[in-house]
Amino acid sequence: MDFENITPGASTPANWIESRNPAHWTEVIGRFPLSDASAVDAAVCAARAAYDSWRLTPAPRRAEVLYRAAERLSRDKEEFAQLMTREMGKVLIEARGDVQEGVDMLYFIAGEGRRLCGETVPSELMSKFAMSVRAPVGVCALVTPWNFPLAIPSWKIAPALVAGNTVVFKPAEDTPAVAHRFAQLLIDCGLPPGVLNVVHGDGSTGALIVNHPGIDLVSFTGSTDVGRLVAHACAESNKRLSLEMGGKNAIIVMEDADLSLAVDGAVWGAFGTSGQRCTAASRLIVHESVYKPFTDMLAARASALRVGDGLDEDSQVGPVINSAQLDRIHDYTQIGLADGAKLLCGGERVSKGSLADGWFYSPTVFADVAPGMRIAQEEIFGPTTCIIPATSLDNALEIANGVRYGLSSAIYTQNVNIAFRAMRDLSTGIVYVNASTIGAEVHLPFGGTRATGNGHREGGHVLDVFTEWKSLYIDFSGTLQRAQIDA
Ligand code: NAD
Repeated sequence: MDFENITPGASTPANWIESRNPAHWTEVIGRFPLSDASAVDAAVCAARAAYDSWRLTPAPRRAEVLYRAAERLSRDKEEFAQLMTREMGKVLIEARGDVQEGVDMLYFIAGEGRRLCGETVPSELMSKFAMSVRAPVGVCALVTPWNFPLAIPSWKIAPALVAGNTVVFKPAEDTPAVAHRFAQLLIDCGLPPGVLNVVHGDGSTGALIVNHPGIDLVSFTGSTDVGRLVAHACAESNKRLSLEMGGKNAIIVMEDADLSLAVDGAVWGAFGTSGQRCTAASRLIVHESVYKPFTDMLAARASALRVGDGLDEDSQVGPVINSAQLDRIHDYTQIGLADGAKLLCGGERVSKGSLADGWFYSPTVFADVAPGMRIAQEEIFGPTTCIIPATSLDNALEIANGVRYGLSSAIYTQNVNIAFRAMRDLSTGIVYVNASTIGAEVHLPFGGTRATGNGHREGGHVLDVFTEWKSLYIDFSGTLQRAQIDA
C-alpha cells in the first residue's frame, strides 16, 4: 500500500521508502514518499506559513485537538499496537504499552494547555508589575528513532503543538507507518493545514531538516554519534536543540536484595523490547556475596524466554529491527568472547521454522565481565546483558557511573541507607529503587546526563524545551524609573 504525502504543497515523490516486518522480512507494510530537498523545503514553508495563526490560537483550544487525539488513539489502541508489532517487532503487550504512553502523553499535555504557567514576581520599583510568560519558539524539527515509534513522537509533537509551535516531523526510516498513521490521526482531530508536517527518509533527510534555515528548534532522539552531528549543525545556525541519546544502564544488586525480585527486574530490563530500549539494563552489577545464585537464576530465566513473532501472544522476545542491527549484536557477542567474558546463554541468531525470514537473536547473558570491557561500556541495543561482580556499595557505584552515558540506573536493596546513597550518588537522570531501569511515566522528567543528553528533559519538564521565557515589565508609575538606580 502506498501512503499519501501529508505535507501541504509537496509534489508527487520520485522515490519511496519501504517499511517491512522484521519478523517476516518479505512482508511489506507500506511504501512512503521519500522526502528530497524540495519536499523538506515545502514542509518547512508550510510550517512557517501556519505558525502565526497557530501561535495566536488560544492554548486551551490547541489543547482540545490533543485531547480529541488522546480519545481517538485510546479507541484505536489495538489497531495501532498490531501495526507497530508488524512494523517494528516488539511483542504485542509492549506495543500496547507504547501506544498507551502516547495516550497518556496527549492527555497530560492537553491539560497543560490550560496552564502553561509563567510567574508573577514583585518588582523592585514602585508601581511596576513584573511577570514572565512562556512563548513558542517557532518551527520545530522533530527527529525520532524507531524503538518507540509512537511514544517518542508523542513526547515531542504534543508539547511542541500545545506551546504554539508548528512542526516538521521526521520519523525513523524503519518505522514510517506508525508515525504516518499517528500524524494523520492528529490532523484528523483538527490540526489546521501546515501545523504538523511529516517528511520521510533516512539520515540524509534528517540532515536536510536540521540544516534548513527555516527551522528554529531541533528536538532529536537517537544515538549519541548522530546526536553529535545534529549538535554541530545546530551550533552552526544557532538553533535551539534538545538531545536524547544513548544509554548503558546498570542495575545494582546488593547483598540484602530480594533476589527473585531483582532477577524479575533484570529479565524485564535486559530483554524487554529485545533490549532495544535506551533504558535497557545492559549491565547487572552484583554484590559478590549473591553473585552465584543471582547468575544461576538469571541464566535459567533468560534461556527459557520464548523468542518469536511479536504478534504471537506466547512470544516474550520479538525480533530486532533489521539485519544490520542483528549483525551488530552478534559482533558484540564475538567481542565479549574475545575479551574473555563468559557466555552463559544465547549468543546466536534464532532462525528455526517460521522465524527463518526474520531478525531474531537469542537472549544473551555474559558473566564475569570486567567493567572496562567493550560489552560493558558500549551500547549494544540488543538482547545482551553483562553481569559484573562488585565487592561493596562504593565499588558498585563506581562501576555504575564508570561509563560515558547517564540515562537510567536501578538498585535492589532492603536497606534504606543504601537506597538513599544510591539515589544521591548514581549520576543518571533516572534512578529506580527496587524496580528495573525501564518504565518511565510521562509526567516525570525523562532524560540523561553526560553523553545521553544536553541538559534538557522530556516528559514532566518538556515545556522548557518547546517554549522561550519572555519577561514582561509594566510600569504604571507615570515616571521614569531606573532599575538599580532609583531604588
Ligand atoms: P539513530 O541515531 O541512527 O537515528 C535517529 C534518527 O536520526 C532517525 O530518524 C535517523 O534517520 C535520523 N538521522 C540519522 N542521521 C542523521 C543526521 N545526520 N542528521 C539528522 N538526523 C539523522 O538512532 P536509532 O538507531 O534510530 O535509535 C537507536 C538509538 O536511539 C539508541 O542509541 C538509543 O539509545 C537512542 N534512544 C534514546 C532515547 C532517549 O530518550 N535517550 C530513546 C530512544 C532511543
